[in-house]
Amino acid sequence: MKTDENRKVCLVTGGSGLVGSHLKDILPEAVYVSSNEFDLTDMQDVYQMMDTYRPNTVVHLAARVGGIIDNINHPVEYLEENVLMNTNVLKAAHEFNVERLIGVLSTCIYPDVVDTYPMKEEDLFDGPPTPTNFSYGFAKRCMAVHIDSYVKQYDKKWCYLTPCNLYSEYDKYTHHNSHFVSALIRKLYEADDEMWLYGTGKPLRQFMYGGDLAKVIKYMIDNDIVDNFNVAPSEVYSIREIAEIAKSATNKKNVSIRFDSEKPDGQYRKDVDSSKLLNTLNQDFKFTSLKKGVAKVYDIFSKRHNRQ
Ligand code: NAP
Repeated sequence: MKTDENRKVCLVTGGSGLVGSHLKDILPEAVYVSSNEFDLTDMQDVYQMMDTYRPNTVVHLAARVGGIIDNINHPVEYLEENVLMNTNVLKAAHEFNVERLIGVLSTCIYPDVVDTYPMKEEDLFDGPPTPTNFSYGFAKRCMAVHIDSYVKQYDKKWCYLTPCNLYSEYDKYTHHNSHFVSALIRKLYEADDEMWLYGTGKPLRQFMYGGDLAKVIKYMIDNDIVDNFNVAPSEVYSIREIAEIAKSATNKKNVSIRFDSEKPDGQYRKDVDSSKLLNTLNQDFKFTSLKKGVAKVYDIFSKRHNRQ
């Protein structure tokens, strides 16, 4: 007979999002929830969610996530919604005795500028986040402190991952919503002769295929790993180089790349060091190269949109 002790339920918030969709592909036995079922900014909804599923493990992916322009225009919503969601989920997880919890931060919450790159996990509080996503950055930093506090005070098996920017076939492909590489894929697909990108093309970035982050989360759950890790491939390219790689991966050689330098660049660089994670993961784990990942997502995107 099943007792409460041997019921193993893994609950994933943000289950309808980019990362949640990848996780569902490889961890179908977990329970996936979105804002349609529970509004995590509402404490009563969060208690109801915990009461319904009584999870042993929570993967907390839900967040208000968006691009640079949306972050600049809605700093209040980025702060309030993320602080509320994270606080409610952690507080309820504690009250419902959730044994293991993985929170997700982002490399864009690291200091705007540090002396040495790539940044390590311990550099998180070495300076303020970049002004363009200051509110989002502080809300996420607050979750890191909140998780660390539960670990210190209650000896919880709770931790967090800090991934770089993602791209995926599961991204939203509306013009104002998608992340840079996903937007690039759409622009390349639609472009015949030229493609315009924001900024100067100079900032440096790491980009990860969303499925790689899902694999890391699953590995941590399967192997009972509890630690805080950066998650990013070692490849660091300028925005211009990324656009060139995407152009070649998608065979759109005739498209000229143009930069609108009137538009903001965002943080100059925020590359992180994932060696702590790579020393922990199975030796077979390899990040998908940007070229391979972009080619894969472009292929799925083009088939979906029926115009090769
Ligand atoms: P996403 O595609 O934007 O999905 C966000 C998820 O959060 C959706 O499932 C959404 O539900 C849910 N959500 C938003 N507001 C909610 C609310 N009030 N109540 C309940 N659920 C709510 O995000 P993602 O790209 O998968 O990101 C997952 C995590 O990774 C986030 O914590 C994000 O900060 C982090 N991250 C993402 C990136 C990236 O480039 N995407 C990079 C670094 C870190 P609905 O679909 O119902 O709205």
